[in-house]
Amino acid sequence: MLEKSTLKFLLVDDEPFMLKLLSRIMSNLGYTQITSCESGSDALDWLEQPDYSADLILLDINMPEMDGVEFVRELAKRHYSGSLILVSGENERMRQTVEKLGQTYKITMLGHLQKPVNPEELSKLLAKWVPPWLNDYSLAQKVDYDVDQIRAAIINNELVNYYQPQVDVTSGKVVGVEALVRWQHPQNGMVFPDQFIHLAEDYGLIDDLTHAVVEAAFAQTRIWRDNNLYQEVSVNISMNNLNSLKFVDYMTTAAANAGIMPSDIVLEITESRLMKDLSASLEILSRLRLKRFGLSIDDFGTGYSSFALLRNIPFNELKIDQRFVHGVASNNTLRAIYNASLTLAQQLDMKTVAEGVEDREDWNFLRSTGCDAAQGYFIAKPMPAAKIPNWISNWEANIKSSDLCI
Ligand code: C2E
Ligand code: MG
Ligand code: MG
Repeated sequence: MLEKSTLKFLLVDDEPFMLKLLSRIMSNLGYTQITSCESGSDALDWLEQPDYSADLILLDINMPEMDGVEFVRELAKRHYSGSLILVSGENERMRQTVEKLGQTYKITMLGHLQKPVNPEELSKLLAKWVPPWLNDYSLAQKVDYDVDQIRAAIINNELVNYYQPQVDVTSGKVVGVEALVRWQHPQNGMVFPDQFIHLAEDYGLIDDLTHAVVEAAFAQTRIWRDNNLYQEVSVNISMNNLNSLKFVDYMTTAAANAGIMPSDIVLEITESRLMKDLSASLEILSRLRLKRFGLSIDDFGTGYSSFALLRNIPFNELKIDQRFVHGVASNNTLRAIYNASLTLAQQLDMKTVAEGVEDREDWNFLRSTGCDAAQGYFIAKPMPAAKIPNWISNWEANIKSSDLCI
């Protein structure tokens, strides 16, 4: 439990009235250590005092001398390790942009509030606040792995697939699962793909990694099929896998060896880097589609040239990136991007999957839009294969008895 009186708050706003108001709201919420500053440079002076550190800063964006954007940069320079809330009369997009900026500087951004501040909204933000030093993620040491360790992990079979369910938005029925690789590190526990995929790509190990994931996923698909749990299984493929024409033969043989059909599998392609050899990739993807593998464009809207890929490649599924899904119901910018992606996919006759459905608001919103399938923590977190059958029975019993679906 957080002891409210031990937490230090720093309020930065050029309007004395706002400072008074915020300060009053905070003390009504039970926080007592509050420091108010009328300018960014004042606040930085405070932060430089050896016996002072702020756990949370409430920052105005539009200030005459040093504005909020500059202040955020100064915080980053000083390796500020507390959290930050933006409080501003600027419109939502502006607040979001500054929030994003803070995130890119690795500052824990708790959210942003419109002025005049509604005490209830502030209290909601504070209720979900986990100070960074109490957060598992920041405590967990981020280890920098090197390529030899990743090579060894592949050889020693330390990679395992987790599977995250995808459900039909209208009926709630489970329609598929996405395989997401994890590295079960013997000492450090579970290591997530963002810590090793890019290394595997950069050092020529991505084919070996993909083979390990594909073989496990295909064998698992067969087991589910044999147990009457038919569902599509999606596998993430790196653009770097598409450099060799052998990839098509490899995939068709792997499916045949596992006793499954290519149409049981969806290959998710992320355009996260510029393609080296565009024509080879196009040929490989077209041939995979001809063999009836499903092709999905992953993280749509975040890559270098999603539109060009759509024009050139016969994708049959589009995954709307989680950045445009979570919070979409209450955010005009996200909604515009979400709707545009959905319409585009529908006009191209593609199935749509929304990623990052984190709460009931996201779910209800999707249901009003005609998106086909949903994936995200609201439905289920990725889990080991062995947990899937039980999860499906629980979920299906749950949707029958709840108002999640019609
Ligand atoms: P992705 O393919 O877009 O996968 C979705 C990611 O979002 C997964 O992260 C998943 O755990 C996470 N996620 C799912 N639901 C939610 C939600 O509601 N909220 C939030 N915030 N996140 C959610 P994960 O497993 O860490 O994977 C990250 C990325 O690593 C994947 O993004 C994919 O691009 C890559 N990746 C994962 N497995 C493989 C693989 O076998 N091969 C390759 N080449 N890339 C992989
Ligand atoms: Mg994916
Ligand atoms: Mg994605």
